[in-house]
Amino acid sequence: MQLRRVAVLGGGPAGLYAARLLKLAQPRCEVVVHEQGERDTTFGFGVGLAAGTQRKLEAADADTLRDIRAAGRPHDMTMDVGGAVARVRNDNLIGIARTELLDVLQRHAEKAGVRLEHGVRPAADDLDADVVLAADGVGSATREAGGFGASVELGRGLFLWCGAGFALDDAVFAPVDTEHGTFVTHAYPYADDRSTFLIETDEPTWRAACLDTAVVEGDASDTASLAHLREVFRTHLRGHDLIGNRTRWQRFRTVTCRRWSAGRVVLLGDAAHTAHFSIGSGTKLAMEDAIALVAALDAEPDPPAAFARYEAVRRPAVERLQELARRSRLWWESFPSRTHLPVERLMISYMTRAGNIPLDRFAATSPEVVGAALGQFAGVAPQVPPDLTDWVLRSRVAPDDLDALVVDAVLDDPWGVEADAVVAAAAAAAPAALRVVGPPERPALLTRLDLAERLRTEVGATVVVEGPPDLRDDLAAGLVSGRADLVGVTGSTGSGEAS
Ligand SMILES: Cc1cc2nc3c(=O)[nH]c(=O)nc-3n(C[C@H](O)[C@H](O)[C@H](O)COP(=O)(O)OP(=O)(O)OC[C@H]3O[C@@H](n4cnc5c(N)ncnc54)[C@H](O)[C@@H]3O)c2cc1C
Repeated sequence: MQLRRVAVLGGGPAGLYAARLLKLAQPRCEVVVHEQGERDTTFGFGVGLAAGTQRKLEAADADTLRDIRAAGRPHDMTMDVGGAVARVRNDNLIGIARTELLDVLQRHAEKAGVRLEHGVRPAADDLDADVVLAADGVGSATREAGGFGASVELGRGLFLWCGAGFALDDAVFAPVDTEHGTFVTHAYPYADDRSTFLIETDEPTWRAACLDTAVVEGDASDTASLAHLREVFRTHLRGHDLIGNRTRWQRFRTVTCRRWSAGRVVLLGDAAHTAHFSIGSGTKLAMEDAIALVAALDAEPDPPAAFARYEAVRRPAVERLQELARRSRLWWESFPSRTHLPVERLMISYMTRAGNIPLDRFAATSPEVVGAALGQFAGVAPQVPPDLTDWVLRSRVAPDDLDALVVDAVLDDPWGVEADAVVAAAAAAAPAALRVVGPPERPALLTRLDLAERLRTEVGATVVVEGPPDLRDDLAAGLVSGRADLVGVTGSTGSGEAS
């Protein structure tokens, strides 16, 4: 469809990238981006862009990607538990300052002929345009105005986003135990003299440390919390301060919408959906939405058909990532319960937390980490045996006649209220062993393994997890990452995708 005039609401990654791609595809169309902030006054620190995303951006617009890469900083990934460090090589992961990313996207949008208007905050209904691309972020007023069947779920944990004035050597995940509880940072370098520090904790720790009492107004940062966290992470900060920029504690908001369009208005990026920051995919989703939306607008004869095509293309990928992000969020929210693991086994637990990275694939790219973890698991020298799954399972299949209390619970959230009741009932029975059983499908098995991990920690019994023969790899990963003591390989095959 040839469009005459398109209004883009929001000049973040989704809006700017969609505007440029649209103007390149339809040079005769007038494309205007309306952004509430002034130019060069964005919030935030660095964001990460993984290799897969970069490949998609390259195919859509090689010029823009070249400049993003030039402004970005590649880094490996490490886990640091009390000075014990596990490292995963990751050549193609780059960190980039949000300011730099937006600068690149603004320049390329303008180069293509897009008009950028800063310091304006129009409502979608007031814009004179054939279609309105609403890319107005996680707090989208367009979405809030209704018509999209939106819902927002709040995470249990608390996090804040801040920075430091030096470049870490690598990305680092580091928990620190304090008298109040555990804080963990996900930190990564994004410029020669800058790193992002994303710090999270659980509610009891947050309250015990009196971080819930800060009064922060306007655009100020929570300086009391930053001072507290500077002490908590002083080893990792190497004497530097934490820098705030409208920094304050938040609970992650997972946004879902039953429809992404209403009339001539279509949502994209965080306005339409969010995925927990621990899978580093917010910018990826925003820019990939832009690619698909512009392709659909170009291919279809009218806006409703284009919006339907865009949603049909993007929704499955977005929902898959949101499910990975949900599992990842639950893993991070329960992180303090597993910091006793040796760092290499903790890294395996991290890599397998959402079920999308098989243990043997991880072993192929990071044999040192997996070898060390397998050695710790089996009490032998570090090694990566060729028949990894068989090797892990060999001595860990529970005997059929093991006297165990059976736990048969189908749950969505292994750390939710229903799970609390299951764990309390098991603890009250004080069994020597528990056998956790349930449906054969893969999502159910992954959840069962998480519940089993909780039962191991909180009940202290030997925990057996049952799963079907075709999901032996997941059972093996569950054993190495400390989610189960023993497994039972039983029943029919488990169909069902990695969720
Ligand atoms: C703590 C944290 C860490 C993150 N880490 C990563 C990471 O490592 N990797 C990653 O890829 N992503 C990360 N993200 C997510 C990422 O920042 C967002 O997902 C991404 O920026 C979404 O892009 P967007 O264009 O949809 O929205 P935004 O970037 O939020 O842009 C929306 C824009 O719309 C403007 N706006 C809002 N309302 C109006 C209005 N009414 N009128 C005009 N303008 C308006 C806003 O000012 C803003 O500029 C992180 C997010 C958080 C909170």
